[in-house]
Amino acid sequence: MIHFRVLKQSKRSRARLGILSTPHGDVETPTLVGVATQGAIKALMTDDVVATHTQLLICNTFHLHLKPGEAIVAAHGKLHKFMHWNRPLMTDSGGFQVFSLGFGRDLNMGKILKGASSERVRAHDQPQSLTITEHGVRFRSPVDGHSLFLGPKESIAIQQKLGADIMFAFDECPPPVAGTAYLRESLARTHRWAAQSLAARTSRQALYGIVQGGKFFRLRKESARVITALPFDGFGIGGELGGDKATMARMLGWMGDLLPPAKPRHLLGTGHPEDILGIVRAGMDTFDSIAPTHYGRHGVAFTSAGRLDMKKTSFLKDDRPLDPKCGCKVCHDYSRAYITHLFRAKEIAAMSLVSFHNLSFYNDYLARLRRDIRRGVL
Ligand SMILES: [Zn+2]
Repeated sequence: MIHFRVLKQSKRSRARLGILSTPHGDVETPTLVGVATQGAIKALMTDDVVATHTQLLICNTFHLHLKPGEAIVAAHGKLHKFMHWNRPLMTDSGGFQVFSLGFGRDLNMGKILKGASSERVRAHDQPQSLTITEHGVRFRSPVDGHSLFLGPKESIAIQQKLGADIMFAFDECPPPVAGTAYLRESLARTHRWAAQSLAARTSRQALYGIVQGGKFFRLRKESARVITALPFDGFGIGGELGGDKATMARMLGWMGDLLPPAKPRHLLGTGHPEDILGIVRAGMDTFDSIAPTHYGRHGVAFTSAGRLDMKKTSFLKDDRPLDPKCGCKVCHDYSRAYITHLFRAKEIAAMSLVSFHNLSFYNDYLARLRRDIRRGVL
């Protein structure tokens, strides 16, 4: 089980400083959750991840179910031992894949829609490649084409075998172009699945419920009312938060007000560097984002002076570290010139170096924000 304590509530914003205690140690919040989709932060060893001061990781239930399968993970002493991460750990529910394999693939879009949205998904619509039923989702394995079924019962059973400290309830992440009729239908299903996820839990792992509702305040409010009435240990915020930064900040503010202050809140799958201040100000405690490692592998370093594209030849003449203000091992030991050379030479160490720095950059930034909350300036 987990225990969450708010150490300080800001008077200037919804931001709060907290401690999330888990059986594998304490997490200082607000903080980033590193995304270890298949049981690894891409391009890094677990010890490196520790050295970036990442406190908490989230693994993907859907991917680990497909490969290697939860039975293999359980046979090797569950996820913490399997991946050599003796620290706090989350697993998501696999619900997001309902969307990304279904309507997301049909409509060729992510969960956030840029520009104007239209009602392209209507009540009772079904995606082409999977079937959503009352009990869960039937789909074909992208690995071998086998027919698979994932619902609240199955998701919790898998997550219990994986053994993370915090699990998530099974939910549907509806597409951003869904009309309100579809959203209502989807939301009611997500709420039934939330109760079924709780009923399916037999372990002492913590379980977070997920609030959906798209970009509509009344649906978010309704979802928060239903989900927070259930005895979850914390709450996740899923789905679309509007196509632009201002809308996202406003919607996160709603969530900060709608969720009970005593329980931890996790924002699912969001967090570019420019979003972080808004996420913290809205009173979120944790958020997971692939940005630091995804951009890192593609040669983009996040620095105190903005983004640097390390594939640019001009850096070959630059002897400075990625970020002169960063105290990480990569900035201490390596030059921009060397890292740019490695990217251009297609040496895979380049991906590790920038991923390491980017994670360190996020964690330094969040440590500063925590200090600001403590000092009463944020
Ligand atoms: Zn650095």
